[in-house]
Amino acid sequence: MTEAYRDPMLAMADMQLKKAAERLGLDEGMQAWLRTPERKLEVAVPIRMDDGSIRVFTGYRVQHSTARGPAKGGIRYHVKVTAEEVQALATLMTWKCSVVNIPFGGAKGGIAVNVKELSRGELERLTRRYAASLIPIIGSRRDIPAPDVDTDAQIMAWFDDTVAMIHGYADPAVVTGKPLDLGGSLGRNEATGRGVAQCTEFACAKMGLDPSKITVAVQGYGKVGRYAAEILHDEYGSKIVAVSDVTGAWYNPDGFDTADLSAYADAHGGLLAGYESHNPKAQLITNEALLTLDVDVLSPSAIEAQITGRNAADVKAKLIVEGANGPVTVEGDEILTRRGVMAVPDILANAGGVTVSYFEWVQGLQFNRWSLEEVRSRLYTIMHDAFEKVWSVAQDHKISLREAAFVVAVERVAEALQTRGLFP
Ligand code: GLU
Repeated sequence: MTEAYRDPMLAMADMQLKKAAERLGLDEGMQAWLRTPERKLEVAVPIRMDDGSIRVFTGYRVQHSTARGPAKGGIRYHVKVTAEEVQALATLMTWKCSVVNIPFGGAKGGIAVNVKELSRGELERLTRRYAASLIPIIGSRRDIPAPDVDTDAQIMAWFDDTVAMIHGYADPAVVTGKPLDLGGSLGRNEATGRGVAQCTEFACAKMGLDPSKITVAVQGYGKVGRYAAEILHDEYGSKIVAVSDVTGAWYNPDGFDTADLSAYADAHGGLLAGYESHNPKAQLITNEALLTLDVDVLSPSAIEAQITGRNAADVKAKLIVEGANGPVTVEGDEILTRRGVMAVPDILANAGGVTVSYFEWVQGLQFNRWSLEEVRSRLYTIMHDAFEKVWSVAQDHKISLREAAFVVAVERVAEALQTRGLFP
């Protein structure tokens, strides 16, 4: 039986599991086992503000599954973070790690906070207090956090240091997405975007498209979209005709020079605001307009629920490669599928990030360092194998890549649970 959730992402995660489980012939009991998170923690995060007052934020960590290995997943700082949203994202992490066949379960954490309202000192105190609250349930063999929306390598460094101070020793495998000098991995920053670019390559090959001849619109010029755009532009020769961030969207039918976009963002606090004055060829458009541009490939790489029942009929891209988590809603997906638009789903398309997190964790456990070439070539192999597996299941069952990805992921986790058996 499925439950009534308020959070649309959780309802979607539930629905996707149910569909895959029914196709796999899994009974109600197994479905409930697969659906129900192993552990949910809600913590108060009180901090001293710069003006001397105290503010209390709410933090969460949900460990959805450890059937295939330690729980793994990012931490997001966002005003809209809720217990149900974190549960949905933790569930998606389980399927994501499973679809690329890395030995992790799924988790997610978050704090309901607008980071723009905090000073650097407040942000550090928030992170350290939250990290300390999670100590009883995290650890390099239990649950390994990483960055997500509005968290970065510096936040991971504070998190790591807090755990090290409390335990009394440094453990480079406690979190991933760390700065390089604290045991971060080469290639972790670009990893999610690189995976998106690789999935674009694989899908283009199936569709008979040449990546050096495609036009691409990327929503979000942050931790995912920026690298996807740069790699598609520099290494595949694709034409990046539109990009966006929270401050706006920019269109240039002749294609952008991503080095110029990135240099501008670096010089302006990571944002592209005002880029149209810097580059007269850049036409300022809305984020909504970007999603319905006449392009070959659209990569929604910002936040959830961007392609919905409202705009999916107007999407003109032939291929969608989902860099964000949950950018297409259930209604949006139904319309796209009906219209024959191919979508590489989030749990596959954006799995490059957690895959290189896995490499970082392995390097941390071994106190070892891999070269950038090694990271990139191992990532390519994992993404390629995962894409081919999902593609063949989609062909065999005549289903969408999204449904196929869930079938592959859910089957592996169900098998792990079955093999483990029930304790006690
Ligand atoms: N937050 C990223 C994701 O949603 C990365 C998670 C990780 O590296 O553990 O996939």
